[in-house]
Amino acid sequence: MSQLTRADLELLDAKDPLAPCRDRFTLPDGVIYMDGNSLGALPRSTAARIADLITREWGQDLIKSWNTAEWITYPTRLGDRIATLIGAAPGTVVAADSTSINLYKLAAAALKMQAPRRKIITEPGNFPTDLYILQGLARYMDMELVTVPRDRLLQAVDHDTALVVLTHVHYKTGEMFPMAQVTRAVQDKGALMLWDLSHSAGAVPVDLAGANADLAVGCGYKYLNGGPGAPGFLYVAQHLQDRIEPPLAGWMGHATPFAFTDEYVPAPGIARNLCGTPVIMGLASLEEGLRLFEDLDMGDIRAKSLQMADLFIRLVEEQCAGHGLEIVTPRAAEMRGSQCSLAHEEGYAIMQALIARGVIGDFRAPDILRFGFTPLYLRYQDLWDAVACLKDIMDSRAWDAAAYRTRAAVT
Ligand SMILES: *Cc1c(COP(=O)(O)O)cnc(C)c1O
Repeated sequence: MSQLTRADLELLDAKDPLAPCRDRFTLPDGVIYMDGNSLGALPRSTAARIADLITREWGQDLIKSWNTAEWITYPTRLGDRIATLIGAAPGTVVAADSTSINLYKLAAAALKMQAPRRKIITEPGNFPTDLYILQGLARYMDMELVTVPRDRLLQAVDHDTALVVLTHVHYKTGEMFPMAQVTRAVQDKGALMLWDLSHSAGAVPVDLAGANADLAVGCGYKYLNGGPGAPGFLYVAQHLQDRIEPPLAGWMGHATPFAFTDEYVPAPGIARNLCGTPVIMGLASLEEGLRLFEDLDMGDIRAKSLQMADLFIRLVEEQCAGHGLEIVTPRAAEMRGSQCSLAHEEGYAIMQALIARGVIGDFRAPDILRFGFTPLYLRYQDLWDAVACLKDIMDSRAWDAAAYRTRAAVT
């Protein structure tokens, strides 16, 4: 196999059916954005939508907009849009709160449902907020939290296991669990399965219904392009919905919030998982991100994402050999999400040097450089340019500068 050239990648761009999607985003000149797995890029329509929300819906129509602009149904309307991306039926998803809070809500409700089982299982190295929320919940509800490495995890699920919580695509390595298989094994032991789809929604095809998933949460500001701090989402399978006793039993989850009664009565269905007043600006921004997927097929997105990762890995191997960059993302397509992670002990400084040259990925301690593939706005030629930049930084040791060693608050 001869070495790839930039012309090979330009040819792929010319034939790419998703190429026109790039125009749906506002991207700064001179930037190769490979961090859509952390904060999605800005859709072209978002600024105008937010301006209209503020000046007209809020400024002119004031409180009437809860009805006239249908603000009140935003969480369920967007939930139904998200459902189409994750293989869920209408009425099983709401957009609300943050992923952390949604995880708390669903995990707490699941533990209540599963009494007297007392054990929660997750894996070490899961995303920190997932671990912290579960640690807090275990202390608060007097449960036992056990972390088991993934090669032994399913054997650890037993008759005392109430709930298993896993992130479908690992935030650091990009490794993906076989959802249906894991869900079945967990359910066979009578435990409930909760998936965190933060690095899956909008990134890889997900089939919650096909996998017979119980519960799921996910993020709105990564591959869904909802903007910084956009609301997340939660999913509850139909058959569990009326068994949920919301731990945060707020008025937006009440059967009749505007009856203003003293007694809490949970809404039927998915809506009981809402708590307080929806964050309308965040939801409006998330809606613009979701709109971009309307006419797209997750299969096409996945095909481009996989090809991009293959090419990126090949380019790193061809161009950057001998620099100690270890590819930690699995090679097998069915075992990875939409990112490639490289390990290097100087990872932080290398990533800062890349960012200084307009190639934006991110760093995850202690040694991971992450490069996200977002097929809607990333071009094949960008992969060439990103790896050429990485090669130059490694060959010249440009990363070896004091300025690149100072850690910022957000890495
Ligand atoms: C990004 C991410 C989160 C984010 O949670 P927030 O509450 O939005 O801060 C949670 N879990 C995983 C696995 C993530 O990747």
